[in-house]
Order: sequence, then C-alpha cells, then structure tokens
Amino acid sequence: MSENTIKIERLALIGIGLIGSSIARAARQHGVAKEIVCAARTHDTRRVALELGIVDHAYEHPCDAVKGADLVILCTPVGTYGAIAEEIAPALEKGALVTDVGSVKQAVVEAIEPHIPDGVDFVAGHPVAGTEKSGPAAGFAELFAGRWCILTPSEKSRDEAVDKLDAFWTALGSDVERMDPKHHDLVLAITSHVPHLIAYNIVGTADDLEEVTQSEVIKYSAGGFRDFTRIAASDPTMWRDVFLHNKEAVLEMLGRFSEDLTALQRAIRWGDGDALFQMFSRTRAIRRQIIDAGQETAEPDFGRASPGEDE
Ligand code: NAP
Repeated sequence: MSENTIKIERLALIGIGLIGSSIARAARQHGVAKEIVCAARTHDTRRVALELGIVDHAYEHPCDAVKGADLVILCTPVGTYGAIAEEIAPALEKGALVTDVGSVKQAVVEAIEPHIPDGVDFVAGHPVAGTEKSGPAAGFAELFAGRWCILTPSEKSRDEAVDKLDAFWTALGSDVERMDPKHHDLVLAITSHVPHLIAYNIVGTADDLEEVTQSEVIKYSAGGFRDFTRIAASDPTMWRDVFLHNKEAVLEMLGRFSEDLTALQRAIRWGDGDALFQMFSRTRAIRRQIIDAGQETAEPDFGRASPGEDE
C-alpha cells in the first residue's frame, strides 16, 4: 500500500454501480478512507455491495449516507444529479467536498452547483475509465490505475478543494488533468460520445437488415462488427443521459463526422483509391500514438479481457 497524502474520514458514494463500486474498492485497497458508505435506491444493489464487503454501510436514502461525510461522490447517471444535489444539500456537513463522476461536465456543474450550501465545496470530475458492464459486482480496484481523471473546476471552486480532489484520484492510481467543463465536453464528444453513438447505430442497422440474417451477423462478427457490439452493450440509461446532456458538442462533432463520411462515400463512388489510402494511413498513425501514450496495448485482445479501455 502506498503512502497517501490524503485521508478521508467518511467517504459517501451516492450510487454504487460499476464506477461507485470501483471507487470503493480502490479507496479501500489504497487505504484512502477510514469509513466507506453508499446509498442505492434498490435493496438488491445495497445487499450486493454489503455482501462484497466494499462498503461499511449501505443506505436507501442519500441524506443518511452524506451525514458526517467529508467526501461525497455522486456515482449515478448524469440526469439524476440535480435532484440528488437538492436532496442531500441540507444534510451535507460544513467543510465537506462534493464531486461526481459524470461523463458530461458543463450540464453537471449547472445542475449541482446551485444546490451546494455555503461552507461546502463542489468540484466536478470525470474518471475516463470504464467498461460496458454495470452494477456493483462489475467494479474492480484497478479500474482507474494509469487512466486519466479530468477535474473541471468552475469559477466558484476553491483551489484547496481542487487540490484535495486531485490528491484523492492520484491516490486511486489516476493521472489527473484539469480542464474547462465546456472543453471537456467537446473533447469527450469526439473521443467517447460519438464513437458510442456510431456503435449503437451500426449494431442497430445490422439488426434491421432484411437481406442478411441475424445468425450470419453473429457468425461473421469477427470481421469488425464484434468490437462495435462491445461498446453498444453499454448501459442504456447512462448513455441516454450522456446524449441528452451533451447535445451541443455531440451535434457539432456529428456534423463534422457526416461531412467526412460523405467525402469517403464520394471517394468510393469515384474509385479514388489514393484518397482512401491516405485517410486510412492517417488513422493508422493515430492508433500508433495511442499505444505509444500507454492508453492501449498492441496485443491482440479479442473479446477484450483487459478492462478500463473505453469511456
Ligand atoms: P451503473 O453501473 O449502472 O450504476 C448506476 C448506479 O446509479 C446504481 O447504483 C443505480 O442504482 C443508481 N441509479 C440508476 N438510476 C438511478 C436513479 N434514477 N436514481 C437514483 N439512483 C440511480 O453505472 P456506472 O457505469 O457506474 O455509471 C455511473 C456514472 O458514472 C454515470 O454518471 C456515468 O456517466 C459515469 N461514468 C461511467 C463510466 C462507464 O464506462 N460506465 C465511465 C466514467 C464515468 P440501482 O442499482 O439501485 O438501480
């Protein structure tokens, strides 16, 4: 266990799915928090979290979890944040730090910040690590190791609070970066949100085809389709909320994507092999850069046994 510069007395996780449970596991493994508690709406989720031994207490109501907590992390879908922030506001301790893990940042800051009472800090955050799985059993302690966590402080965020959150994610193994919320949404629109939309769309298109049978799609999926199905298996609620809350940036990136797709369509129609070759060579170089940056390995990874690749 490494020596941490941060020690949390009571860590409250509101929502304990893939991300919340991974935080609980990592915080425990790295000795970051004395007490770890969670709130979850369903009895089943609370039972699993307790059985896994990743939390000390599991509450039905978020207010009970945040009582006495010095760090509160919202780990539910983005669309729930405003209502949860409003609900927990009266129960938050003076001096507490509230944050979130939402995949969208501008809308999240706007939804949470107005409810934060005086004497309580709020700094938004996004661990850029995940899998297509959901629920407390899907989490694991190493999810954030060597992955980026982007903090998006607002004008109201105090430097001390941002530094504290930075130290927390660093202790969990993340590399921490700070970014303007709007810029975060633009970057993630092209690196995560649009790719997920494309995956959902291509799998939907294949499902709708009449000339090709479903068993053929499944049988020959190794031709590339299979990789899209992994992404398209991601949680529907989470991704619905991402697109509803990052509308502007996603539509901007989709516009550019459509223009580039039209150019490729034209190259195919006119037999412009040079244009296709140039484009495919450029994209191959990007893959090389991602591997060199340590964000992926060059190993064949059919079925993706290794976690933490996307989002
Ligand atoms: P998850 O595994 O589906 O867990 C979601 C948690 O939120 C569960 O505890 C669930 O409770 C609770 N929840 C769902 N709907 C709710 C509602 N309407 N009201 C109250 N609680 C509700 O999801 P996740 O993958 O951990 O994602 C959580 C957050 O992390 C999202 O905001 C997402 O944008 C962000 N994120 C996800 C990834 C990723 O790859 N998955 C990566 C980075 C950030 P029950 O089980 O009791 O229903």
